[in-house]
Amino acid sequence: MNEQTFVIIGAGLAGANAAAQLRKDGFEGRIVLVGEEPDRPYERPPLSKDYLRGTTERAKLDVHGPEFYTDGAIGLRLSTRATAIEPASREVVLEDGQRLRYDRLLLATGASPRRLEIPGADLAGVHYLRTVADADAIREAATTAGRATVIGGGWISTEVAASLRELGLAVAMIAPGPVPLERVLGTEVGTVYRDLHAEHGVELVMGQRVAALRGRTAVAAVETADGTRIDADLVVVGIGAVPRTELAAAAGLTVAGGVLVDERLESNVPGIFAAGDVAAAWHPLFGARIRVEHWDNARRQGRAAARNMLGHAEPYLRVPYFYSDQYDLAMEYSGYAPAWDRVVFRGDPASREFLAFWLQDGRVLAGMSANIHKMNSAISALVASRRRVAVDRLVDPAIPLDDLEALLLA
Ligand code: FAD
Ligand code: NAP
Repeated sequence: MNEQTFVIIGAGLAGANAAAQLRKDGFEGRIVLVGEEPDRPYERPPLSKDYLRGTTERAKLDVHGPEFYTDGAIGLRLSTRATAIEPASREVVLEDGQRLRYDRLLLATGASPRRLEIPGADLAGVHYLRTVADADAIREAATTAGRATVIGGGWISTEVAASLRELGLAVAMIAPGPVPLERVLGTEVGTVYRDLHAEHGVELVMGQRVAALRGRTAVAAVETADGTRIDADLVVVGIGAVPRTELAAAAGLTVAGGVLVDERLESNVPGIFAAGDVAAAWHPLFGARIRVEHWDNARRQGRAAARNMLGHAEPYLRVPYFYSDQYDLAMEYSGYAPAWDRVVFRGDPASREFLAFWLQDGRVLAGMSANIHKMNSAISALVASRRRVAVDRLVDPAIPLDDLEALLLA
């Protein structure tokens, strides 16, 4: 093994965790981590939260300090984009023309923000948020901005709206659904977020698409499809992320809304694996290929892919998990619910201290805790059981959530 070279494309969360796992598992060969950003791998979650608000310093974002790379002999190639993969010769081509031969390759290229394609989208003052440089630019703009508008009703928009309100800016949110986070949480829980933002003074413009951004050189207003004009000198667009599959597709890997990989995270080209936001991985529990755009998945899939690159042949079975912090509402969510037929609560959603469950045919597909901690493993176990639940007991706070025998039907 120590004559081998493992190359990782993408020096983000999945890539850094994969490199760490390779060394942890005793791999003594060469590891090269190629990243197009100038920064060592860092955590993105604070970029819309405490880092954006200026309460977390830059150094705290690093996944590992510099000594991790020197001591671990991990070759970091920053500010370097990989431009091609040539599976026949097992080479990665870098933008400067250099070629890296690999024995195993991990694609951890993540995702990039979907762009608005409407008149005025290129005006100054219009921001996206993916990198630390993006967060710095928004934070800088927030120091002089009078009025901000976030476009989209997903995680970026809601978290950035909360942070900008906490910084004291006037904020409007424009989203296509009836409530924020409608697609992932549904109307019932989305309503909790709508009310939370309204209480904190966000102007909610729901059920609206943005038609144009107006201004001479810098944005001055956002115009919706029905002609409503909302003044804004700072706009943050959060309309989804697109997996960075271009290298994989050009190299002949199967791509369909992500790089398709099996439960061991290996693609259709032997020796090439994918992990994190870019990977659409077969999940035996759900009987589907799923792509998860969250922190926990990137860390754990990075590690799992590394072990499988070393030949361990372990399926990735983790129930997806994520969290979000907005104002004083801390939520955690476990499961996978692309569609459901029922949402039930344990506790009163209006109190903002509750559990919510998304069910299909009586089975819990996903559960969320709001301001109640340490519920995750119990929720994951319920989801992983794939068994029907007694809903009256599921919503009864007197029955411990980890008492599966009491909750599951025979
Ligand atoms: P990335 O982190 O995107 O890293 C991929 C890296 O690969 C990038 O640095 C990219 O430049 C590089 N790259 C791509 N192509 C090439 C190439 N050809 N050559 C070289 N390098 C390349 N998740 C949560 O669960 N909770 C949160 O609270 C949360 N908050 C978030 C806040 C923000 C602002 C953002 C943007 C995301 C947040 N997430 C959160 C999601 C989470 O950060 C992502 O799921 C995670 O970063 C994905 O990790 P990754 O390694 O797959 O991809
Ligand atoms: P997102 O969570 O997928 O939300 C996208 C939102 O934009 C949805 O409300 C969507 O509505 C809306 N939308 C889509 N196309 C639109 C358009 N043309 N005009 C207006 N709205 C449009 O994506 P995101 O908020 O941009 O976040 C980017 C990535 O960062 C995601 O991978 C996300 O998971 C990650 N992230 C995660 C967290 C977290 O886990 N806490 C925090 C921040 C970021 P429809 O659903 O109706 O299409």
